[in-house]
Amino acid sequence: MEIANISGSRSLRVCSRSMASKTPVGFIGLGNMGNPMAKNLMKHGYPLVIYDVFPDACKEFQDKGEQVVSSPADVAEKADRIITMLPTSMNAIEVYSGANGILKNVKKGSLLIDSSTIDPTVSKELAKEVEKMGAVFMDAPVSGGVGAARSGNLTFMVGGVEEEFAAAQELLGCMGSNVLYCGAVGTGQAAKICNNMLLAISMIGTAEAMNLGIRLGLDPKLLAKILNMSSGRCWSSDTYNPVPGVMDGVPSANNYQGGFGTTLMAKDLGLAQDSATNTKTPILLGSLAHQIYRMMCAKGYSKKDFSSVFQFLREEETL
Ligand code: NAD
Repeated sequence: MEIANISGSRSLRVCSRSMASKTPVGFIGLGNMGNPMAKNLMKHGYPLVIYDVFPDACKEFQDKGEQVVSSPADVAEKADRIITMLPTSMNAIEVYSGANGILKNVKKGSLLIDSSTIDPTVSKELAKEVEKMGAVFMDAPVSGGVGAARSGNLTFMVGGVEEEFAAAQELLGCMGSNVLYCGAVGTGQAAKICNNMLLAISMIGTAEAMNLGIRLGLDPKLLAKILNMSSGRCWSSDTYNPVPGVMDGVPSANNYQGGFGTTLMAKDLGLAQDSATNTKTPILLGSLAHQIYRMMCAKGYSKKDFSSVFQFLREEETL
């Protein structure tokens, strides 16, 4: 057995898994994000062992000669490095600890990286269970969306044992241009949740300001230009403007199709809300943003991009 060239008492953990090698990598959850991420691993020469609860999601990988198996346990039997990219905490618990979960067959020394955005307390619980089996768990949620997933330019926020970061970086670097170590398990999720709470607040603020300006008679393109050279400028105003006709190539230019779904934003704000309750942290605007996105889901916006909050405000304006 080869011992990886890392220092410290934890070095034995990676003994059965060779770093910088092209042994098969497991990938579970081939949805909007997982699909292009897995393809980038293939481009870097990693053979894949694939599983998704929705068989159609695996088809194009099977057609390309990748191995498709029928449960997360089967993935763990065939690969000692596994990436999971699932919608929610419940899905992650099922995939790791369920009846046919990864933990059924996980090999000692395996590296399990969860890139889903889930509750940090769930990440910590999963890490404990994984550690009991002699394997390593890291949370590595992403920022950047489907476009960045395709181009391999995601940002990964990584939590876990620092000595294992280099091993995680080897794989994550194939899918992202920024791979940042945040601290202990759960801190990757913490960073992601804070970012998305701020994003939701700034998107709602941008939509409100744009809508008010339009009602005051301003041309939306001119208003966006002024905001973007003034102190109100933010990513939601200058890169992802929510007003149709202001920018090309963003969901607002395409009837809010594609992009980052309102349901996922509502989920992330729920995680921020739970985390704020657990830590007794006031998040007044974050809580309000959560309620706004929940209302949008209930009113038919769940499949649209989260920038459709502009359209939602327009429809509410006669109230
Ligand atoms: P998605 O719903 O498109 O894909 C998730 C995939 O997981 C689906 O193919 C689904 O069938 C599969 N799945 C669900 N439960 C499963 C199970 N028990 N076993 C195996 N497979 C299962 O979601 P997505 O947009 O790819 O997002 C994945 C995660 O990434 C989410 O946590 C999301 O918040 C986060 N994220 C998404 C974006 C984005 O722009 N879409 C950006 C950053 C982060």
